[in-house]
Amino acid sequence: MIRVGFRWLERGSCRHPERATISGGSLCPVDFPALVGVIEHPERGLFLFDTGYDSAFIEATTPFPERLYRWATPVDIGAGQQWKTWLDEHGIEEDSIAGTIVSHFHGDHVAGIGHLARRPVHCSRAGLDGLRRTGRFSGVRRGLLPALVPRGVDANARFFEEAPVRRLPGGFAPFTAGHDILGDGSLLAVELPGHCVGHWGLALRTTRDHQVLLAGDAVWLGKSIREGRPPPFVTTALLGNTRRYRATLQALIAADRGNRELTILPSHCADSASRFRESHAD
Ligand SMILES: [Zn+2]
Repeated sequence: MIRVGFRWLERGSCRHPERATISGGSLCPVDFPALVGVIEHPERGLFLFDTGYDSAFIEATTPFPERLYRWATPVDIGAGQQWKTWLDEHGIEEDSIAGTIVSHFHGDHVAGIGHLARRPVHCSRAGLDGLRRTGRFSGVRRGLLPALVPRGVDANARFFEEAPVRRLPGGFAPFTAGHDILGDGSLLAVELPGHCVGHWGLALRTTRDHQVLLAGDAVWLGKSIREGRPPPFVTTALLGNTRRYRATLQALIAADRGNRELTILPSHCADSASRFRESHAD
């Protein structure tokens, strides 16, 4: 795989009881960061993997029924998380962003997509179709806020499902193949079904030669993988398909146990993010 620069940065967070995200978790509210991957391709520019929270999320969840989403998962978007401020803080030039890669269309992953809707958006066709078909009430129940995703995204979408399939290096087993979204083998999208319709992860190799699998919301916490503790049925059944979710979790557990060099990064796990930054800083 072509190596890419990679940083894993927080953009906003939300709070809910840990027990909503992992079996046997605490009932105390816990902060869950929304993590954004900043991928620096040696020739093609910067790509963001998801966008985290954004002030657009507050606007989209001000009316009812969308307000219920914000009540269910209270968000924290500080001044430093505003788009331009966040870019500046991390030394990212907006013009250098070549495109976005979307793991799935839940509001906490695409709230900032409006800033990037004129550039290529690599995403799942099934996920975008599902977003466009959903009603306001059913969308809120499933974490979807169609107002966050401008129609321009549809015109600029590049679908994972249509990208050529390539073999993954052995270090990602039992995941054996991914969809080559740039056509050069650098970024391979891997379907991780169960969390919601059109939920995908991303396999990459960093410039420091670490293999990374961005897992989106296939789990909320890394310890779900390490300890084999899935989210509770009530959460996975509400959002997606529990049977498929648990099959994906088993594959992630096997990947984690079988590949010592592989780092799996869930999109909301503060612990996995800080471990990664300490040991794999790029
Ligand atoms: Zn999420």
